[in-house]
Amino acid sequence: MNIDWLIVGAGFSGCVLAEQIATRLDEKVLIVEKRDHLGGNAYDCYDENGVLVHLYGPHLFHTNSKKIWDYLSKFTEWKIYHHHAQSVIDGKSVPVPFNLNTLYRLFPQGYASRMEEKLIEQFGFGNKVPILKLLEDSDGDIQQLAEYIYKKVFYGYTTKQWGMDPKELDASVTGRVPIHISRDDRYFQDKYQGIPMQGYTQMFRNMINHPNIKLLLNTDYKELGDYFKNSKKIYTGPIDAYFDYSFGELPYRSLEFHSVHHPDQDTFQPTAQVNYPNDYDFTRITEYKKITSQKIKGTTTVFEYPCPYSPQKNDPYYPIPKKENHELFQKYQSEAQKLKGQVWFVGRLAEYKYYNMDQVVARAHHVFEKEIVQYKQNGSSRKRLT
Ligand code: FAD
Ligand code: UDP
Repeated sequence: MNIDWLIVGAGFSGCVLAEQIATRLDEKVLIVEKRDHLGGNAYDCYDENGVLVHLYGPHLFHTNSKKIWDYLSKFTEWKIYHHHAQSVIDGKSVPVPFNLNTLYRLFPQGYASRMEEKLIEQFGFGNKVPILKLLEDSDGDIQQLAEYIYKKVFYGYTTKQWGMDPKELDASVTGRVPIHISRDDRYFQDKYQGIPMQGYTQMFRNMINHPNIKLLLNTDYKELGDYFKNSKKIYTGPIDAYFDYSFGELPYRSLEFHSVHHPDQDTFQPTAQVNYPNDYDFTRITEYKKITSQKIKGTTTVFEYPCPYSPQKNDPYYPIPKKENHELFQKYQSEAQKLKGQVWFVGRLAEYKYYNMDQVVARAHHVFEKEIVQYKQNGSSRKRLT
């Protein structure tokens, strides 16, 4: 089999790059995927009760980039979907991210109205404030409210999710769900939000449906040995695994998903996602029908139990954004630099970055435009000179 490119991993990074190389360079690609399906962690499928679920946790597509939205729209139509989540705090189910509605739901009217005024005065209506920034506010009342939010919304959830205190992590982690000085209960405010109409998996099938692209499932690329040693390679798996953990294992966080079907219930909870920061060992429950609007009797819920990651045992779902982990990653990155022009490292695991789906698509496009196309141009100009 003659191929120009070997791509390791059939997730967003691998599929987008395969599509770009196949259509724009007219070169042949083999995608090798160790799982038995394409789509990476964005894979969705029907469970044994016929409910469409996201096998690796809820995937809500959101972006402010028209370019990314238009690009994916070539492979799917969208069901417009704006995600809502609630969190159980002091026995009440309230909107998260914490916003002015949450404030009124948790506190007496007089206090809530005084704090609303203060928050708007200090940060401006419509703005977002990361909890770690709110904690540092010089106003005593705001600081007190911040301490309450930190304790009730962030502390328990984060210690479960990451196995550490929120302050030990990079501020960008809790900064993903900032306090929103508004009445907007949506989880995201991006301009474009939706779920692929026929599911993510079908979108990936459409993306790689090209005569230049072949997909080999159930195969670790290492099993191929030197078979494709002359092909250029794109690697989207964990970077430490690529280098046989030569500097030690990079820490990732993993999850266990426990699925429960409720055959006689049409609805289980008020919103698609409910977080449990202060009770139980799981962090959140997702009810998939509320995301997909699937018309089916019964409903399926999935409980997420965070756990440590260990190679060979479970999957590396989250890179852990923390200074010392970044330093270890940089050692691997400098090894990756030595392979420039032979191997490209792209994606959430290969770049050890807490990327969302749209960021991964943007990154794959960037690598294609700025590195691969340029590499081809340099390669051909070198050829012309010799
Ligand atoms: P992956 O999807 O991880 O794909 C890498 C692929 O490489 C995998 O399929 C893996 O099996 C394969 N692979 C690894 N090693 C090898 C090997 N040795 N040989 C062959 N194949 C190999 N993003 C959002 O925008 N919105 C969300 O709501 C959202 N929710 C999420 C919820 C959870 C629980 C998780 C874990 C992630 C979520 N994300 C979300 C992030 C999203 O999943 C990622 O941004 C995206 O899937 C990353 O794509 P990728 O191709 O870089 O990596
Ligand atoms: N977080 C929290 N409480 C919540 C929601 C989020 O403490 O109710 C923190 C937690 O550390 C979490 C991070 O914010 O890991 C990012 O949340 P997000 O919902 O973006 O997580 P993901 O969907 O990526 O798992």
